[in-house]
Amino acid sequence: MKTLLLNNTPEDIKTAAEILKNGGLVGIPTETVYGLAADALSGAAVAKIFAAKGRPMDNPLIVHISDFSDIKRFNLVREIPASAKILADKFWPGALTIIMKKSDNIPDEVSAGLDTVAIRFPSHSVAQKIIKQSKTVLAAPSANLSGSPSPTTAAHVLSDMNGRIDAVLDGGASDVGVESTVITLAGDVPRVLRPGGITVEQLREVLGEVEVDNAVLNKLEDGAKAASPGMKYKHYAPSARVILLKCSDDEYINYVNKNCADGVAALCCDEDIPLLKAKTFTLGGRGDYITQAHRLFDELRKIDLDGNVKTVYSRLPSVHGVGLAVYNRLIRAAGFEVIDLEKV
Ligand code: AMP
Ligand code: MG
Repeated sequence: MKTLLLNNTPEDIKTAAEILKNGGLVGIPTETVYGLAADALSGAAVAKIFAAKGRPMDNPLIVHISDFSDIKRFNLVREIPASAKILADKFWPGALTIIMKKSDNIPDEVSAGLDTVAIRFPSHSVAQKIIKQSKTVLAAPSANLSGSPSPTTAAHVLSDMNGRIDAVLDGGASDVGVESTVITLAGDVPRVLRPGGITVEQLREVLGEVEVDNAVLNKLEDGAKAASPGMKYKHYAPSARVILLKCSDDEYINYVNKNCADGVAALCCDEDIPLLKAKTFTLGGRGDYITQAHRLFDELRKIDLDGNVKTVYSRLPSVHGVGLAVYNRLIRAAGFEVIDLEKV
C-alpha cells in the first residue's frame, strides 16, 4: 500500500475524512501524540488498526469525538455520569480521556471485550476538523508500531507506518508530547489508569477524591489483571537499553561519567550537559516536566537514529505534576530496570 502524505490544507483534511469514512486508516495530528485513526463504529475498520500496529487485540482503543454532544449523538455510553460532565466542562477539549460504561454501539474491537469505552475530545483543530468531516467518531491509538516510542511528528509516523496505512496528515509537532491522562469513572471512586498532560493534582481539585492505579508506577505481578491493558506491556522503548538511576543530581553525573564507554549515552537535563563525558540527549531543564514530556519520545527515537548507542542512562523522574507522566513512560521504556543508588 502506498501511504499518502497529506498537509494541513482544507483539501487534504477533506481527503483524510473521505478515507476514514470509507473504512481506511489515517495518521492524524493531535495535541498529545499522533493518532492512527479509523471509523470507531466499524469493527472492520478498527481491526485494521491492530494489524497495522501489531497491537495485541486485548488492548482497547480511545474513541475521539469533536463535540461533547457526540457522546449522545452516536450513542457511545449507557449513561453519562455527573462527574464526566464536570471533567468535560473543565478539561475538554484537551488531554484527558474519560472511561464510562459502553453502549452496545461500540464494536468489541474498540473495547477489547471490556464493558467500558474510553472517550476523548482532542483540542487540536486539525483533529477536530477531520473527525467532524468524517461524520463519525474515530478510534485512534498512538500511530507507532506497538512497543515503540509514540510519534509526535508526521515523520515519526512515516518511519513506523509507511506502506502500512492509507495516509498521514502533517499538522506539525504535537504540543504535549505524551499521551492523554486516562481516568475511569466506571468504579466507585474515579481512578487514574494512565498519567498524562492533565495532572492528578488538577483532577483532585475538580473531583476531590481520585485514586491512582497501582500499575501507573509499578510493574504488574505476573498474571495480575490490568485495569488498563496498555500499561502491562513493555512500551515506548528504543532498541538501546534504557537504565534509570534513582539518585541525586551529583550521583547521576558521577555514575554516568564512571560508566562512560563507547555506546553509552545519557538521557539527561540541560544543566547536566557540561558535566557529562557521555554523549547527551536532553529532555529540558531540571524540574521543567512540561518540556521533558514534550521532548521525551523524540529524544528516545533520536537515540536509535544515532546508530551507536547501546545503553542510555537516565534519572528516575519526579512523580509530581506532569513528571508522573514522564516517569510512567520512561520506566516502561526501561522495562522497569532501575538502579537504586540510595540503597547500594
Ligand atoms: P493509546 O491509544 O495507544 O495511547 O492507548 C490507549 C490506552 O488507553 C491504553 O493504555 C489502553 O489500555 C487504555 N484504554 C482504552 N480503553 C480502555 C478501557 N475501556 N478501559 C481501560 N483502559 C482503556
Ligand atoms: Mg500507544
